[in-house]
Amino acid sequence: MNEIFYNSTRGQDNKVSASQAIINGLAGDGGLYVPDKMPELKLDFEEIKDLSYQELACRILSAFLTDFSRQEIEYCVHSAYDQKFDCPEIAPTVKRGDSYYLELFHGSTIAFKDMALSILPYLMKVAAKKQQIKDTILILTATSGDTGKAALEGFSDVEGIEIVVFYPKDGVSKIQERQMITSAGKNTLVVGIDGNFDDAQTGVKQIFGDAAFRADLATAGYRLSSANSINIGRLLPQIVYYIYSYAQLVRQGHIQSGELIDFAVPTGNFGNILAGHYAKRLGTPINKLICCSNDNKVLYDFINSGRYDIGRDFKLTISPSMDILVSSNLERFIYELSDNDSNQVKTYMNQLAETGSYQIPISKLDQDLVGGYATEQETLDTIKRVFEQDDYVLDPHTAVAKAVYDKYWLQAKPKHCAVIVSTASPYKFTNSVIEAMGYQFTDDEFGLIDKLHQISDIPIPPAVDQIAQRPVLHNYQSSKEEIKQFLYHQKRRGTL
Ligand SMILES: *Cc1c(COP(=O)(O)O)cnc(C)c1O
Repeated sequence: MNEIFYNSTRGQDNKVSASQAIINGLAGDGGLYVPDKMPELKLDFEEIKDLSYQELACRILSAFLTDFSRQEIEYCVHSAYDQKFDCPEIAPTVKRGDSYYLELFHGSTIAFKDMALSILPYLMKVAAKKQQIKDTILILTATSGDTGKAALEGFSDVEGIEIVVFYPKDGVSKIQERQMITSAGKNTLVVGIDGNFDDAQTGVKQIFGDAAFRADLATAGYRLSSANSINIGRLLPQIVYYIYSYAQLVRQGHIQSGELIDFAVPTGNFGNILAGHYAKRLGTPINKLICCSNDNKVLYDFINSGRYDIGRDFKLTISPSMDILVSSNLERFIYELSDNDSNQVKTYMNQLAETGSYQIPISKLDQDLVGGYATEQETLDTIKRVFEQDDYVLDPHTAVAKAVYDKYWLQAKPKHCAVIVSTASPYKFTNSVIEAMGYQFTDDEFGLIDKLHQISDIPIPPAVDQIAQRPVLHNYQSSKEEIKQFLYHQKRRGTL
């Protein structure tokens, strides 16, 4: 039995089982859980190419979640990847013009967060049963837009779990807000915070760090957990679509099994691209992983200099899900680059917390990682050009990756075929997409949904169809100082 355990990147919370790591979310010492070794999966793409997404997901997840039974994995996979996705492939790889795109936006909230947040609730439910946790799991999530709705959908009416999402009242798009406040699950609560995303995030973090409040919740039968990408249960399901995409290219005859390919990944928190790196370590023939940033190009600077430095202005861009300075999943990669030396990782993370930067020896950097970035103008130009040339509409995040890849292609003239990882439907960002195409409308964002449909002829996804007409089911508001009181109040009322 090739059992896999999970170790903390900070070295004080090691050898926990997969189910324990998923329940804990963050390791007890503040680090992130990483698998103690990569499972040995002899990937034979001539065979894998005929597997369904679900079959492949079962195979990959069984190799990592070694304390889950085959039936439990199948239950999770089949509950997650079903008709909630609008195509049987779940994550199709399509060719448009000369480019391949791995479309990760066919789930219920039309952003790639669905790939992991559709399955995390089931993994958590099974893990809680395994760990004999009788308490109700209370998920608290602060969101800047995409994660909140994907988590609300994923956890909707999952037994034994309740979820509260805090979003900045004036910091998300109208479409994103409407998606959240029309959420129907009986176990969901959505709260607008008067403040920005950082305020919401800080409020939630304070609750996690508040021992008295946690004890009080425990008496009432609640246990806190998190749905953000620090949870290993979000990272592992993302490995599947890299392997699946490679297999689809083999199946469609675009590449021979064994041929190397590149992936260009629009990156924020470094979760998606890290899953690609794990897919490579498992034996997928990946040559370069191209880490694509917008104007918040901390990762680009890091990859090219070894210096991670957040001492800079935070820029609001048209690809908001990549507006991030502290990429939390990078810690897992740094751990690997430091030869699993948790003391070294702790030193870097302390330096980051205290001085806002750290420097790793540039020689340590993985030669297979390429960093690039695209400006706002390059991103807009790319949306327009791809629409005109290839009749394909990119959302602004995917457009960053396409712009970066095209620059890389001109400079490096790579021999391998490349897949652009496509993280959101353009319907989620109608304003910027329509502006990029050169149209000017005075409609609000809801009105622009129909306009985009007229221009592009892409069917309107159920996620946003008639969204302006849906009943608003959540109108809770809280000040950033009162998040805790708010939760107490709801508990007394029996809403939680
Ligand atoms: C979250 C998100 C990203 C960034 O992914 P990371 O895993 O945080 O690097 C990119 N695009 C979209 C649309 C997203 O929602």
